[in-house]
Formats: sequence, structure tokens, C-alpha cells
Amino acid sequence: MRREDSLRQIEEHRQWDLLVIGGGASGLGVALEAVSRGYRTLLVEQHDFSKGTSSRSTKLIHGGVRYLRQGNFTLVRDALRERGRLIRNAPHLVHDLAFVVPVYRWRDIGFYGSGLKLYDFLSGRLSLGKSRILSRTETIQRLPSIRTTGLKGGVLYHDAQFDDSRLAISLAQSITALGGVAANYVQVVSLLKAGRKTVGAAVKDVFSGAVYEVAARATVNATGVFADQIRHLDDAAESPVLAASQGTHIVLDSSFLPASTALMVPKTEDGRVLFAIPWHNRVLIGTTDVPLKEVSLEPVPLAQELDFLLRHAALYLNKAPKVSDILSMFAGIRPLVSSKQGPTSALSRDHQILVSNSGLVSLVGGKWTIYRKMGEDTVDAVEKAGTIERRRGAGTSDLRIQGADAGNGTEQVERLHPSLPHTRYDVLRGVKEEMACTVEDVLARRTRALFLDARAAIEIAPAVAAIMAEELGCGPDWEEQQVASFRAVAKNYLPPQK
Ligand SMILES: Cc1cc2nc3c(=O)[nH]c(=O)nc-3n(C[C@H](O)[C@H](O)[C@H](O)COP(=O)(O)OP(=O)(O)OC[C@H]3O[C@@H](n4cnc5c(N)ncnc54)[C@H](O)[C@@H]3O)c2cc1C
Repeated sequence: MRREDSLRQIEEHRQWDLLVIGGGASGLGVALEAVSRGYRTLLVEQHDFSKGTSSRSTKLIHGGVRYLRQGNFTLVRDALRERGRLIRNAPHLVHDLAFVVPVYRWRDIGFYGSGLKLYDFLSGRLSLGKSRILSRTETIQRLPSIRTTGLKGGVLYHDAQFDDSRLAISLAQSITALGGVAANYVQVVSLLKAGRKTVGAAVKDVFSGAVYEVAARATVNATGVFADQIRHLDDAAESPVLAASQGTHIVLDSSFLPASTALMVPKTEDGRVLFAIPWHNRVLIGTTDVPLKEVSLEPVPLAQELDFLLRHAALYLNKAPKVSDILSMFAGIRPLVSSKQGPTSALSRDHQILVSNSGLVSLVGGKWTIYRKMGEDTVDAVEKAGTIERRRGAGTSDLRIQGADAGNGTEQVERLHPSLPHTRYDVLRGVKEEMACTVEDVLARRTRALFLDARAAIEIAPAVAAIMAEELGCGPDWEEQQVASFRAVAKNYLPPQK
């Protein structure tokens, strides 16, 4: 997958069946479905693949235990079905993870136990293992750092875990392998119109500034929290449909949860669920839910969110984490479909497909777990809108996802940093095979260094820049500029200094 090849195709091939705007979970899912049905498909992403919300999730492929409480059984069942497909189609990226809900009141054992039995039932034959009630001793064996005062027992259940950015890259590679085109750092700057119809877009190569007109029979807006901006480009009279809500995670040393089982807190003080999950030899704790007025590609965790996460972690772990224990922190913005009232935690996580008068198809809301189903529903909607003929291609239900896991550089190769598993090989692979263009692409999304240990990532930025510069044929000015812009982004992942 090489960016030069994608740009050449954009330049040479001016007529596409589908143009997909946005290279997060939604856009990648739509483009892969379209290309698997045989449509000539182009996906453009203004920054890097998964730069937006799609690199900032809790990394769970899950039915969503909390949606059971909201009575949204259809969402849970669809998500569990997709979980089963993903484990089958991307076994190198998605795996089973055991969770324990610790219980401190006897009556909660029955309550959570029966809720999770319903979860098992909805998983049907795609279940990853039966839920069961654990004794106090078994709970402590599973979660050795759990707070034991008042602990009565726990409930064990299964869900799946993945690496969001790695899946995004594998999806982009899958699109390319099937003959589609995906390009990062290509931004839609305006939509092309024929009369009142949207017939493609003007796209800009962010690095060279060159603008190309791309004609498409159908245009799909899959820009997450930016979807209203593209809808506005389409029709200035469209009113917004999205409500943004920020969720923050913190990453700690594995000594805070030295286990291969995750901890799930079913009800925090604001009624949310909270997870502490083993991830790449660290512990990932999240998340929060804070309504936002302004959206950005690089949202910054708020002091109140850190306080919330640390306070709740201290309620359940026998070693209370402090701000200075945070190795990395990151915020993501949920593209929730708006209702005029109520807190954002109550808004739907379900996706919606909107078709404008001009024919622009917008996919909004949803979650990573159901990206494939979102893509399928969107391509169905495009076909129904009638600008492309219906095709009976293979689809994505059984399509194996390309790519291998990150961080698998061989042991013989020296690591770039003692706290991180990554090697020179991971950097080179990012540049040569995965369209990594900047130091940030490599350290944030081809490897997850920035998310695992922000300080260590900053320390290795010059070495990564040097490896990339050699491969790309860039000079010392490029290296210097890359390190400076990576540091500017990375400082937001460091905990606040006292
Ligand atoms: C804190 C948090 C935790 C979550 N945890 C989970 C989880 O554990 N499991 C799960 O299933 N789901 C989870 N989700 C939900 C999931 O992450 C999101 O639903 C999903 O990533 C949204 O993907 P998207 O493609 O719609 O948006 P994005 O990932 O934001 O992608 C949109 C892309 O469009 C691009 N774009 C915007 N404008 C333009 C333009 N003009 N031209 C070209 N490109 C453009 C942006 O740069 C961006 O990359 C979580 C969400 C949050 C916020």
C-alpha cells in the first residue's frame, strides 16, 4: 500500500463509483464493503487513517453490557454477531478477553450474574465462553490488585479486545488488495455539483497542495464528528445532527492490574461503566463522558476527567494511582446522534444513515465493533438511492482482513526504547507497507508508542525521524520539523506537571 500509487490513481482516474470521505472505522468499513461488491472505490482521509476517534477507543469489540441496561437488545445482538465475525475474519487482530465485575454487595451477585447470562444468551453460538459467578478467592486470583475490603465475589464474562489503529491499517490494506484506492493526507475541500446533485468532490493533497476533481456516482460522508461540516458543504441550510461527547483514557504501568483479566465497574458515580484493561503490557483505564461544544482532531483530556478516572481507579484497586503514574493519556470524541435533551451518556450509540436532497449519503454514530455492518448498511443505502446499479459482489461477511499485528519485530533486532517493544523494523514496515508519512503516524498509529508511554515515545522521536528520512530520502530539515511537530502533539499525552 503506497501513497504515490493512490495519488497516481486519483490523478489518472477521474470517474469513480463511490467516493468515501473519512478514513476512520466508518469510512474504512464502507469502502471495504463497496470494493468487495465490485464498485470502483476511492477513500480519502484528510490526516492519517484512524487519526480521529478511531485510534482513541477503549479497544473493545463488544456487545456493550451497558446497552443491556438500556434495553437496547438489537444493538447488543448485532454487535455480538459482528464480534463473532471479526474474531473469525481477523484472528491476528481481535482476541477473547475475560472480564470480572467485582461485587461488594451480596444482592449485586444475582443482579449482574443474571444480566450477564442474558448477554451469553444473546451471543448464541458466537459466545466466547459462559459467564459465571466467582467466589471471593477466585475473584482475587483473577484480579490480584482488586480492593478486598468488603469484597463478596465477582462475575466473570467474556468479550473481545483489539488494537483500533492496527485494524484500521489492515482495513486500508484490504481495500487496496481488492483493487480499491485509499489515500491518507487527502482532504475534501468542496463538493462537486451537477445541478442540485452531488457528483464528487474537490480533494487536496495536504503535502503538495495539489487539488484534484474527483467525479463519483455516489459520495459517502463518513467523517465522524466532522460529518455536520461536510453536510454543511453539501447544503448550507442543513441543521446539525451530531452531539459531541469526549471520553478520556489513562494508561498505567501493569503493576496496577497485574492480570490477564480485565476489570469492569458496572456503575460509576455518573452511571457509566468503567474498564481497567490489560493492553500491550500496560493497563488502560476509561472512560469518561463530557459533552463538548467544539470538536478537534487532537482533543485534550480535561483535569476533571483525570480526577474522575484516578478517583474511581482508587476505589477498586488496592494501589491508588496518582497523576505522576500516568504513562499516557488520550481523549476521543464520540459522534453521537443528537437528541435535544438528556445527558450525552444516554444518547444512541447506534448508527444512522442520512441521504440529503443532493444524494450525499452520511453515515453517523455507531461504534468500532459494528463497523462492517455499518459499511454494509451504507452501501445498501447507496444502492437504494439509485445512482449506482445494484451489485451482487461477495461482500464482507466472510472476508479475511489483511495485515499482521504491530510490535512483532524479531527479538534479535534492538528495541528503540527499553520500555517499548518496537524496533527499526516496525518503523520501516510503517513507511514501506502502511503509508506512514510522519513520525506521528509511526509513533501514534503504526506502533502505539505514544499511547503506551508518551515520554518514551518523545525520546525515540529523533531516531524514528532518522530511520524514516533515510527511507524516504528526506533531509535534516525534514527530520527536525517532524520531531518538533511530534513533540507538539505528544505533550498532550503527558500527565500535567505539578
Ligand atoms: C472514548 C471512546 C471509546 C470508545 N470505545 C469503543 C470501544 O471500545 N469499542 C467500540 O466498538 N467502539 C468504541 N468507541 C466508538 C468508536 O471509536 C467510534 O464510533 C468510531 O471510531 C468512529 O469512527 P468514525 O470513522 O465515524 O470517526 P473517526 O474515526 O473520527 O473518522 C472520521 C475521519 O474523517 C476524517 N475527515 C474529516 N473531515 C474530512 C475531510 N474534509 N476530508 C477527508 N477526511 C475528513 C477525519 O480526519 C477522521 O479521521 C469509542 C469512542 C470513544 C470516543
